[in-house]
Amino acid sequence: MTHAAATGIDIQGLTKQFVLGRRTVDALAAVDLGTERNSFLSLIGPSGCGKSTVLRILAGLDTPTAGTAVINGRPVGEIQRDHELGIAFQEAALLPWRTVAGNIRLPLEVAGITPEPGLIDGLIELVGLSGFEKAKPAQLSGGMRQRVAIARCLAVQPTVMLLDEPFGALDDMTRQRLNGELLRIWTERPATTLMVTHGISEAVFLSDVVAVMSPRPGRIVEVVPIDLPRPRTPDLMRTPEFHAYVDRLSELLFGRVGENA
Ligand code: ADP
Ligand code: MG
Repeated sequence: MTHAAATGIDIQGLTKQFVLGRRTVDALAAVDLGTERNSFLSLIGPSGCGKSTVLRILAGLDTPTAGTAVINGRPVGEIQRDHELGIAFQEAALLPWRTVAGNIRLPLEVAGITPEPGLIDGLIELVGLSGFEKAKPAQLSGGMRQRVAIARCLAVQPTVMLLDEPFGALDDMTRQRLNGELLRIWTERPATTLMVTHGISEAVFLSDVVAVMSPRPGRIVEVVPIDLPRPRTPDLMRTPEFHAYVDRLSELLFGRVGENA
């Protein structure tokens, strides 16, 4: 007998219109999307197709015009209320006057939660920033600041992680390293994860499922399960199976070479 896996992200008919004066912008047109609990989903699509809008609605930062979004079987607001939501964006948005440790602790302070002893130090070690506990953001590189943002996102021990191009502003080498570390962290502490990215390789490398969106108004064009074994190491990126996924997703995003030229 087979058991249905527990639901992770469950989006149905998600629609979003922005009203700008007399003009309305259709950002999302009935997005349907589902994943299993604790799986890693990446969302890719052309610029302006509504990826961040999906993420912001899931994060409770915006409300849909129509449709529903439930994560791990619960309404988004409940997950937020119970401080189980970890979020990271392209800009680390750290408080400049706070230390690394102080920034990572912030969501817990806001929630009125006293961190367990060793939690903050453990997170600093997890993201490879030991020795920088007392450094201020201005003393860190861009990659280090994003590490702080990831640690801050993990401080609440999230059951749900929403990441919007978390390493999008970084150089390729730093980005690849941080993707490897994100994968390690997610493997150690599974959470239902949605990552918005424009990096096809990183989407394949990290994900259980990659969803491809159409140009605005965004719809899901295709959902591609990434059937590659875990644990994954960078060697995987040199295999034909990996390249087959990258090619297929590129084709879905950009069309075949020569087509629409
Ligand atoms: P993506 O993240 O895929 O690049 P977004 O979700 O940011 O796209 O935006 C989707 C569309 O909605 C874009 O056309 C954008 O201009 C529009 N949009 C996003 N946020 C707002 C807003 N607050 N007000 C008006 N239009 C918006
Ligand atoms: Mg965006």
